[in-house]
Amino acid sequence: MTRLILATRNSGKLTELRAILADAGLPHDLVGADAYPDIPDVKETGVTFAENALLKAHALATATGLPAVADDSGLCVDVLGGAPGIFSARWSGTHGDDTANLNLLLAQLSDIPAPHRTAHFACAAALALPDGTERVAEGRLLGTLRTSPTGTGGFGYDPILQPDGDTRTCAELTAPEKNAISHRGQAFRALVPALRELLS
Ligand code: IMP
Repeated sequence: MTRLILATRNSGKLTELRAILADAGLPHDLVGADAYPDIPDVKETGVTFAENALLKAHALATATGLPAVADDSGLCVDVLGGAPGIFSARWSGTHGDDTANLNLLLAQLSDIPAPHRTAHFACAAALALPDGTERVAEGRLLGTLRTSPTGTGGFGYDPILQPDGDTRTCAELTAPEKNAISHRGQAFRALVPALRELLS
């Protein structure tokens, strides 16, 4: 069985990708970057989700000699010209402070009425092989932004993004409901043909 590494220490992402690989009938031994604790985190110097996902996948594939998968994602707000975008995790200045990031975004949009509060989550999923071969696939979840947070599930900007066609925010969806429509689910599912082509 081919070992495939996912460039994340997030167990939720590992579970989600394992389910997608199993659904696709791909019998890979998927492990997280935690299995290789000596490998340093990569600086995300790219200016697009795809560039950052590829940077992370290549770094891990080179360091381990194994095929690696990575993703990069964020929230893109139309009226902000696509921001926070690749800066979503550190929009308020502190990396990973979900509450501060969300509150700053809500304050910035406080005067913007509903029809102009369109936004989407975006994700790029990348596969890199130790020989430098690479593939990347992308996914989007379109929606509108609420004026205050609702729901207790999910993470990040989930409590304010209401997917098109739903009356709930992402934080009110069950995990399987969100995975079925999410930017990350779409990107990883779109990567499956490349995984099948390059790893079988
Ligand atoms: P990363 O790609 O896991 O580093 O995510 C970047 C940032 O984008 C996160 O810290 C969140 O702020 C935001 N983000 C990405 N995907 C989601 C999502 O599915 N829900 C809510 N926020 C997200």
